[in-house]
Amino acid sequence: MPPATSVPGHALVTGGAGFIGSHLVDSLLADGWTVTCVDNFDPYYDEATKRRNIAPHLEHRGYRLLQADLRDAATLEAALDQPFGSPYSVIVHLAAKAGVRNSLLDPLGYQMTNMVGTQNLLSYAHKHGVKQFVFASSSSVYGDCPRLPWSESDLDLLPLNPYASTKLAGEQLGYVYARTFGLRFVGLRFFTVYGERQRPDLAIHKFARLMLAGKPIPVYGDGSSERDFTYWDEIVSGVRGAMAYDGSAYEIFNLGNNRTIGLLDTIRKLENVLGTTAKIEWQDWQPGEMRRTWANIDKIERLLGYRVKTDFDTGLKRFAAWLEQRLREDAGIGLLVNNAGMAAPG
Ligand code: NAD
Repeated sequence: MPPATSVPGHALVTGGAGFIGSHLVDSLLADGWTVTCVDNFDPYYDEATKRRNIAPHLEHRGYRLLQADLRDAATLEAALDQPFGSPYSVIVHLAAKAGVRNSLLDPLGYQMTNMVGTQNLLSYAHKHGVKQFVFASSSSVYGDCPRLPWSESDLDLLPLNPYASTKLAGEQLGYVYARTFGLRFVGLRFFTVYGERQRPDLAIHKFARLMLAGKPIPVYGDGSSERDFTYWDEIVSGVRGAMAYDGSAYEIFNLGNNRTIGLLDTIRKLENVLGTTAKIEWQDWQPGEMRRTWANIDKIERLLGYRVKTDFDTGLKRFAAWLEQRLREDAGIGLLVNNAGMAAPG
């Protein structure tokens, strides 16, 4: 097995304009890595948000952005083949159509990006001799798995929605390339990630904006669902550990927090950090939703030296401070636009 990449090299980061990807790129550039970011600015949420995430990266000599779509193998290969420093030492594949509920509406779209896109990238890695491949999988692959906390050794993987099934397929495609073609493939099952720049469709971010606007928040079922929330910084440290992993050719790790928080507790904590009161709109359980997620993190602690550092209250405070700052900035921009608009007729 070739040596892994613990020293700065050239990382190809897909989805590098998104929530998690942009934090990872911050950390890689700060440590002297060269980074090629591939992102197609998928319209699932606002392109401007992603442009804002990468604005500081564009100033960096060691960074390039390739606006390319993973679904289009030929265009992708042509873009990736343009030289930029040393060859890719590692691929970190974060790009995906994410979001459970949306996958029920567009299952084929999810298969195209998450399965065909992953296949195209694995083919590229194989053809061009890239040795290490880190894949963003998801806690959702466990679905109905009855034994909690979920452990990687549990093979009762019972996905409940199209998104989860595409993530499981991605892990299996990775196994093919590890077993048959000698690529080192590390799959990381992220557990609900939160914090600054969080995707706007995810519960904490969505609820916070509704609460600050005085609007009701939708709560499904009896509100008893629980999540193992993971602060983005832990995800970055897990990904960095996986990039440097030089053990077996194929490994899967849970990347979570090993603490679950109930939905109603989450709402109470959000009320505290935002200084506002939530109006709850009770709705039926949603199809494809998991009632509880909970990570056993023994394996990643043992093999990658992973440690949880940020507790939920601290992470939530940082998220709230970031959101308030963001809303102030947006209001300022709105004011400027309005003022400019009012000045124009003269
Ligand atoms: P995100 O949507 O913010 O980032 C994904 C990025 O991929 C986006 O910038 C998007 O434009 C890009 N992308 C989508 N389709 C593409 C395509 N066809 N070609 C090129 N780029 C494309 O999402 P995120 O929350 O940062 O998630 C990153 C990864 O982590 C995803 O693979 C997601 O499934 C996984 N994950 C996230 C969470 C979470 O809680 N955020 C939990 C489990 C797994």
